[in-house]
Amino acid sequence: NPHNRLIIVSNRLPYRIEPDEREGFAFTRTVGGLVAGLEPLHAQPGNVWLGWADEPAGLDDAGRARFERALAERSCAPVRLDGRDAELYYEGFSNSTLWPLFHGFPQHTRFDEEAWEAYVRVNERFRDAVLALARPGDTVWVHDYHLMLLPSLLREALPDASIGFFLHIPFPDYETFRMLPWRRELMRGVLGADLVGFHAYDYVRHFLSSCRRIVGVENESGTLFADGRLAQVDAFPLGIDYGRYRDAARLPAVRRLVTELGEEKGHEGCKLMLSVERLDYSKGIPERLLAFDAFLDRFPEWRGRVVLVLVTVPSRENVASYAALKKQVDELVGLINGKHSTMDWTPVDYYYRSLPFERLVSLYAASDVMLVTPLRDGMNLVCKEYLACHDGAGGTLVLSEMAGASYELHEALTVNPFDQEGVVDAMRRALEMPEAEQRRRNAPMQERLARYTSEKWAREFLDAAADVKRRQAGLS
Ligand code: UDP
Repeated sequence: NPHNRLIIVSNRLPYRIEPDEREGFAFTRTVGGLVAGLEPLHAQPGNVWLGWADEPAGLDDAGRARFERALAERSCAPVRLDGRDAELYYEGFSNSTLWPLFHGFPQHTRFDEEAWEAYVRVNERFRDAVLALARPGDTVWVHDYHLMLLPSLLREALPDASIGFFLHIPFPDYETFRMLPWRRELMRGVLGADLVGFHAYDYVRHFLSSCRRIVGVENESGTLFADGRLAQVDAFPLGIDYGRYRDAARLPAVRRLVTELGEEKGHEGCKLMLSVERLDYSKGIPERLLAFDAFLDRFPEWRGRVVLVLVTVPSRENVASYAALKKQVDELVGLINGKHSTMDWTPVDYYYRSLPFERLVSLYAASDVMLVTPLRDGMNLVCKEYLACHDGAGGTLVLSEMAGASYELHEALTVNPFDQEGVVDAMRRALEMPEAEQRRRNAPMQERLARYTSEKWAREFLDAAADVKRRQAGLS
């Protein structure tokens, strides 16, 4: 029913809100698969996006009124968090407990009761903010690991509402998930939704298995009954706005950047291998650097003929394990460059910053090989963006089988990122792959990505959520 409103709830709003000299604050639209997929829905009249947004410091009454207006004009509703709770919820439970454990890094996982309690309070805050907006007939779509308790908190207040939940990170196997002292509460929290979505079937299987073993709920093909209410669990792999990347890669300004990149000092006559990601231990950056070092040792004929462009985007710098990783990557780059560089060639071209869209696209378009080798990744969109920027053309994708995207992109050169020998071999195969084979591999992947866009993903999820409501009505 097109008259029903959609309330999107995620940790962050689709804008970055930064201090600004003149206005007191500035809104910048963020991009990425989630925002791209939900943007067309968010743009429909009446629909709202709800997320954490504190008031910028130092605003006077007029400034505050302008801030409220700016949010309302963008159909955004803010959830304000107390500073201490925000830290325990975001840097604490979300990014020092759930993120590491769900990605299979128990060594980085903290089990802290105080952080859990803040997580509960913040989820309740979000509930109150949704309830202040929600009207009968609305659909509420809750996103990601920050808000796993929200579906059931909402369900208590809105027994008939249509509530969806999507997890954008992997769901771990039962043996891992059961380490959480709060596993039952988290499971119950998610089961407040009518539809629970994941990027891959393996995550669905893991979730259903924990569901059976922790709360005793059985399922049939992902259909289950939680407190007597029918719910569905399914996989919906997130795509990208394919046309945006394909078209951007063809812009004259981007083509100029591509030419410049190829002519840059140290790049000339070299093949470019690229990796781009947030600086995160799940991305396997040190492992990739060590493999590149081993590659240069094993295939000295490639010295002076290939450059690894390594872009790491600053992320979660207040979490200790991230600061340690930064140091490790800096040192490894120094080590490799110190060991292999010559007067006119430096093997690793290293950037620690985020890139503007046109720069990113030009790097994708200019690169012969894209290395996406995370140790674990819920989906990974970078690999999809690379393929879109090479629409109808070659370019080789080396892809970790630990990324959710590998379920859809099996024509890529897949690697086990823990197998250094295998990664080294894949680097060589990628660099030496004939153009015809590159195109033959890319074409079916590009066709799939062009069809299953992020916008389609959002619509399929909402259609499936509406379908659950129909099935529930058929039962009553
Ligand atoms: N990205 C960006 N700025 C950069 C580099 C990358 O906005 O400087 C984007 C990139 O285009 C992609 C997203 O960040 O859409 C990363 O998504 P992905 O699923 O690959 O990884 P995540 O960071 O969510 O773990």
